[in-house]
Amino acid sequence: MSTFRQARWNEPIIFELGKVHRRGFALPEIEEEIKQVIGDVQLLMPQKMKRETPPKLPELSEVEVTRHFIRLSQMNYGVDSGLYPLGSCTMKYNPKINDALATSPTVALLHPYQDPQTTQGILQILYTLSRWLAEITGTYEVCLQPSAGAHGELLGVLIIRAYHKRNGELKKRSEIIVPDSAHGTNPASATMGGYRVIVVPSDADGCVDIEALKSVVSERTAGLMLTNPNTLGIFEKNIEEIARIVHEAGGLLYYDGANLNAILGKTRPGDMGFDIVHINIHKTFGTPHGGGGPGAGPVGVSEELERFLPVPRIGFDGKDYFLDYNKPDSVGKIRSFYGNIAVLVRAYAYILSLGAEGLQEVAEVSVLNANYLAKKLAEIRGFELPYDKQKPRKHECVISAKPMAKETGVKALNVSKRLLDYGVHAPTTYFPLIVDEALMIEPTESFEKEELDRFVDAVKKISQEAYSNPQLVLNAPQNTACTRLDEVKASHPQSMALSWKMYLKKRKDI
Ligand SMILES: *Cc1c(COP(=O)(O)O)cnc(C)c1O
Repeated sequence: MSTFRQARWNEPIIFELGKVHRRGFALPEIEEEIKQVIGDVQLLMPQKMKRETPPKLPELSEVEVTRHFIRLSQMNYGVDSGLYPLGSCTMKYNPKINDALATSPTVALLHPYQDPQTTQGILQILYTLSRWLAEITGTYEVCLQPSAGAHGELLGVLIIRAYHKRNGELKKRSEIIVPDSAHGTNPASATMGGYRVIVVPSDADGCVDIEALKSVVSERTAGLMLTNPNTLGIFEKNIEEIARIVHEAGGLLYYDGANLNAILGKTRPGDMGFDIVHINIHKTFGTPHGGGGPGAGPVGVSEELERFLPVPRIGFDGKDYFLDYNKPDSVGKIRSFYGNIAVLVRAYAYILSLGAEGLQEVAEVSVLNANYLAKKLAEIRGFELPYDKQKPRKHECVISAKPMAKETGVKALNVSKRLLDYGVHAPTTYFPLIVDEALMIEPTESFEKEELDRFVDAVKKISQEAYSNPQLVLNAPQNTACTRLDEVKASHPQSMALSWKMYLKKRKDI
């Protein structure tokens, strides 16, 4: 097991670097001829928008800026550094060609207010992508606008509302059913959309408990939100029966497709009976994410619900691509313009480069990798695989460190922290909530067997440490740029300084 030593620079923040009047770049004087055309630049800016004093920006040379950010990057760990098994969130390799295309001037310099006759190329890309995503999800039409998964969920919930409103059942249908294994955004989106959330428990197999579902479904049911495979990585084998129960009660089925890795080209939410689907482009389709963005959460719907999608819709009349605002039943706008274009272009490049067979291979390899890890990890002392051990997992697996916590005091959180010392990003920890001491692991298709074996070796080593020298694991991490953070302080808004101004103010207060 190779050890890991993260670079540890004593790097000041950029405001503390540099010297007054130091420059990295100097703009040339505006030439006389240009001045004659544009007039006095000073006068171009309306007086009331001008600052009285210049902003207090750091003043640095180019080489200082370069060194500063290179040092910060050396104290960082990313999906391009090594394994990043963050279950549910899918941190996989994002081919660099996607970035090259998304940042090419032909894309980056476009403006949404341009006449559509001058933006036919990007409209074609967006239109084609929406058709591909409809094909992949088995839906009738896809809206590309939402900026994230949670944003897509909100749109989905607004569509559920619009559907029941049209049927004159808005008041009556006040509940959305969510399983207890759901991602936290599901109940949050349902609540934001004005619904009461009804939680349905999982059964001994880790799937939706059908009898419990029957008992909570009623004429108050507006819909059910479900992830399949669920957050345990287990495929809901009763999905057709679940769809029947919800539909017979008059509700709609919402598919949380944040993570589509397991089913790409294998099965489709539309075929399982779902009416509304969101997809996280930034998880499944080749956009780097983390730290909050950027993302895109397109939403696909059945033919019946198509009328409710946001405007403008991108259409094609056989000759031209056009923007269609004439949709009287639309829920309206969910975002400015047409979506997060750079992210959507990456998805277009990703799907185009892999093709249908390539997407299937993504699903096959990611499922194979997850099962390989599930089997290897469950054999390690102190860990167990909850729910049916024989049942194959899909794109991810959840292992529990409960035996280790009981026997040594080393908990899942400590295992995650110690993994950092071995140069592996921590898995999703303490989620889903239905598993004690949960470590949710998603290797994705991007890592070779040797890297997976290194991960297994690291967990083995941590197990040995936990049983021989638990203090070592409890004090981890030691080898990282930042050692153990104060978890309570870190999540306390009053203790955080999120800008230089706040920091200065706090320092004065101290
Ligand atoms: C990531 C995730 C979401 C939320 O997506 P965001 O883009 O972070 O808003 C929803 N559901 C599941 C299952 C997820 O993994």
